[in-house]
Amino acid sequence: MACAAVTAAAPSWGVRGAGSLLVERWGRGRAGRGGVPTNLRVSAPPAVLCPPARMSPRLGPTYNLRVWCVEDGEELGEKLLEEWDDPVLVPWEVTRASGKRARWRCRTCDWKWVAPVYSRTRSTSPGGCPACAGFVATETHNLALTCEESGGRLAHLPGEWNHPTKRMEDFTPASPQKVPWTCGTCEWQWNARVKSRTRSDRSTGCPACAGKVATETHNLALACEESGGRLARLPGEWNHPTKRMEDFTPNSGEKVPWRCGTCEWQWNAKIHPRTRSNHPTGCPQCYNSARAIGLSHSFYKR
Ligand SMILES: [Zn+2]
Ligand SMILES: [Zn+2]
Ligand SMILES: [Zn+2]
Repeated sequence: MACAAVTAAAPSWGVRGAGSLLVERWGRGRAGRGGVPTNLRVSAPPAVLCPPARMSPRLGPTYNLRVWCVEDGEELGEKLLEEWDDPVLVPWEVTRASGKRARWRCRTCDWKWVAPVYSRTRSTSPGGCPACAGFVATETHNLALTCEESGGRLAHLPGEWNHPTKRMEDFTPASPQKVPWTCGTCEWQWNARVKSRTRSDRSTGCPACAGKVATETHNLALACEESGGRLARLPGEWNHPTKRMEDFTPNSGEKVPWRCGTCEWQWNAKIHPRTRSNHPTGCPQCYNSARAIGLSHSFYKR
């Protein structure tokens, strides 16, 4: 806001008063030095009356949110005054840059929400109604509706919804909240973010069906049994003090303790490199001994 505009609208600073005094007496005033009427020198130029440049204007009858909305806010200001819905505050009790949180009511969808004043008045991307922006679940925008209207893509989600208290209508399809699900195929129960299940690109599904969790039908012990001898030595080398091989998948990246069936060396290694078909790892001590007596790498690997 230009300084002159501030002073023109600020009778409390006395500019208007001094100005009108000057005009009234212009014709009758005695000439001072250089022919300038003396009363012209009495009235200070408006610029002097401006607050210092670095001081932000104080809240007052001429500087508050309502004044800004009417004078400078243009379309946005008009909308903000219309949407102002705070039960306690009024728009002339805050400045446009105020951090105070006020209640607003969307003039498009009637949604009520609370947001700091400055977030709605800033010049670059001022905050708007979260419901219109799709950030809150409403009757016309929610997870249940999205599944219905997905053309089959998300049709399995309602059957897998396992939240004990909340409905799918209470969430948006893009919600980052973690909620419980039950697999429609294997009945596995797990927690996953709503948005991870609804996104069109790489949406997540049941981790058990995907082989990512150890189950009764998919685990390390079973994989060793069914490996046709390839992983037959692993159960004998399993050295975990508390967990069983049934608690891990063959692809697990977890480090667990092993004990060599040949040299009794104990070491920690990830499960996955030991079970993979291409260059599985083995006892490091046996590997070193084999190298020491000149056996080739490939011989040991076999
Ligand atoms: Zn709205
Ligand atoms: Zn499943
Ligand atoms: Zn060994």
